[in-house]
Amino acid sequence: MRWRRAFGQLVFPQCCCLCDGPLADPLAGPACPGCADCLRPLAVPACLKCGLFLAPSVPPGRCGECRARRRPFRMAVAAAPYEGAFRRALLELKFRRREVLAELLAKPAVSAFRRAPRDHDAGTAGAFPAAAVAVPVPFWRGRRRGFNQAELLARPVAREFGIPLVRGVLRRRSRPPQTLVSPSARRRNVRGAFRAGRLPERLAGRPLLLVDDVFTTGSTVEAAVRALIRAGAGPVDVLTVARAWTPAPR
Ligand SMILES: [Zn+2]
Ligand SMILES: [Zn+2]
Repeated sequence: MRWRRAFGQLVFPQCCCLCDGPLADPLAGPACPGCADCLRPLAVPACLKCGLFLAPSVPPGRCGECRARRRPFRMAVAAAPYEGAFRRALLELKFRRREVLAELLAKPAVSAFRRAPRDHDAGTAGAFPAAAVAVPVPFWRGRRRGFNQAELLARPVAREFGIPLVRGVLRRRSRPPQTLVSPSARRRNVRGAFRAGRLPERLAGRPLLLVDDVFTTGSTVEAAVRALIRAGAGPVDVLTVARAWTPAPR
């Protein structure tokens, strides 16, 4: 009975992929209207450089950290804080490979990136990325799960922007999972975590878009950005679906 239900779900899902509530119109998408409505970009001010969501009272600009130190990326953008429906959907995607969810989550990320202000003073202005690259997962983890959630997201993102997704440029060495390491040790833990091969000739010096699921402390994406720049990339923008929610005072 269970497998029959599971099979039916696969062919013609009856339940919302996020809340398991009934799906009145399965052709409209894998999530019920309530859940789909929750997956919209958050409309609050964000740091122009790193995409950190700021308290609504804060005037637009760069967050304290971005003013204090140089970021290796040109600009980082996220659709929403890592909480609520976004968090649920990202965990579903990460552990259960729901490709329909990757499509659903790519949309708000794409619109957040399109409407992110390009600012000369923050150093985020310039040409649109020529190609997308997904942050790779450590080899053993990818092997065990059989997929990389960042790549599942990068595919619809690249398609929406009409740019190619370049695979195999970045590789990741095995390190203890970032969640098991204290924030201060995270930066050390990711140093040297990425190896980049040579970029295709046509991408040398061109801007790239690095795609990941969640921007937490930024240490992972920063290490990946540095590896891409060492490999000959031009400026690198970062697009994640979610951003750790830490409204910083300025
Ligand atoms: Zn739902
Ligand atoms: Zn910032």
